[in-house]
Amino acid sequence: MILSLSIFIYIFAFESTSRSFFHRLEVRSNIVGHAALQQNQSRSSIYYDIKEKHLGDLPFEKHYVIEEGKSERLSQIRNTLPIPESFYRDLKEKKAARYFGRDSSYVGFEIYDNGKNVMIISSALDVYGLEEMANLKKLLVIGFLIAMAFVFTFSRFFSKQIFQPIRMIIWKVKGINANNLHERLVVGGSRDEIAHLSATFNDMLDRLEITFDMQNNFVSNASHEFRTPLTVISGEAELGISLRDLPEPASSSFRTILRESEKLEHLTNSMLSLAQTGFDGKREQWGVVRIDELIFEVKGNMERILPGNGVEINFDELPEDENKLIVIGNETLLKVAFTNIILNSCKYSDNKPVSVAIKANENRVMVEITDRGIGIPDSEIGQIFVPFFRASNTKEYEGYGIGLPLANNIAKMHKGTIDVRSQVNIGTIFTVRFPCKY
Ligand code: ADP
Repeated sequence: MILSLSIFIYIFAFESTSRSFFHRLEVRSNIVGHAALQQNQSRSSIYYDIKEKHLGDLPFEKHYVIEEGKSERLSQIRNTLPIPESFYRDLKEKKAARYFGRDSSYVGFEIYDNGKNVMIISSALDVYGLEEMANLKKLLVIGFLIAMAFVFTFSRFFSKQIFQPIRMIIWKVKGINANNLHERLVVGGSRDEIAHLSATFNDMLDRLEITFDMQNNFVSNASHEFRTPLTVISGEAELGISLRDLPEPASSSFRTILRESEKLEHLTNSMLSLAQTGFDGKREQWGVVRIDELIFEVKGNMERILPGNGVEINFDELPEDENKLIVIGNETLLKVAFTNIILNSCKYSDNKPVSVAIKANENRVMVEITDRGIGIPDSEIGQIFVPFFRASNTKEYEGYGIGLPLANNIAKMHKGTIDVRSQVNIGTIFTVRFPCKY
């Protein structure tokens, strides 16, 4: 808009200056033409005097008078002056013509006086007009650039101001996840669209939280309800196994019942923990935990669950300052998380050696679990923390896809992270990091 306005101003000013210059040139040309038509010298000089005294000369002013019938004079002028043919055509048909040339402006017309007819062509250079136009051009270009700079700076500033509340909403919404679903956006007192948007988001979060609660309660209740009958089944199976003189097929069937019901028990316990750790709330039984001691206990438990496993604890990078190994957390849950990850490493590497290294830096304690197993395909690595997801190369291994999501939830509850690096048929490295207490 500023550019078109500048162009419009320039064209308008140019039209107006050249029109007024043509008019000034025509007035002078008229006087010279009339002077040429006077029979005596004194009358002619009156015309020249008037022109001289009242009008003055224009820069580079020249007049060419062509008397009637002097066609050779006209063609001589035609050859000398840089005027296009259209000028002479207008002069012939309309009896008047104007031409704005690069070096001069030209006017031409016919004058009738004293019973005689002359044609006059006059030229002059509009020095002041051209100067003014050049100044105007400079002014418009500078004005345009300054205006653009202003528009750019102010529009950036205002757009920042206008979108600030939206940026705040985006930032806040990005931070809301399953662990802090109770958080809400600040709606504020205004009744504008932003407040409306925040209120709509809050409504949506209310609905999500209710659904999430319902789903979690369902999983919790169902797991609880499964527990008692499962305990009864395993108890009865154990009783059956302990009976003497039972035929072999019967005791083998009792053993199968016991094994499968234990698996089912482990599954329901994991599902219950998954549902419970999905929320921030469960903070009872939190205290000081030493990660190296915890890993030792996990290793001890592993011996019972999986005798002859290849788990080796690596102390090479243990920090000198023992305080760096202390975290605040729930010991039982932390054990569950590490057991799940280490059991996976044993399971998916068919009991090959698994190294568990404990390290620490300034503010984090790290446990690195490395196996030489089947690995996780690249395209699926992003989904291994999704409940019930199992990678495509695990068909021959038993599992439910609950262990890692549970471990991840536990890590998040402790403000920790779990990172995975893996290569198919080479191995997998899980790095668990927790903020240390000191
Ligand atoms: P699952 O009961 O199937 O082991 P998890 O939740 O513990 O369930 O693990 C999810 C998926 O992550 C597994 O199915 C497997 O595909 C992959 N995974 C986890 N740990 C390993 C590992 N150490 N090596 C290869 N794949 C693994």
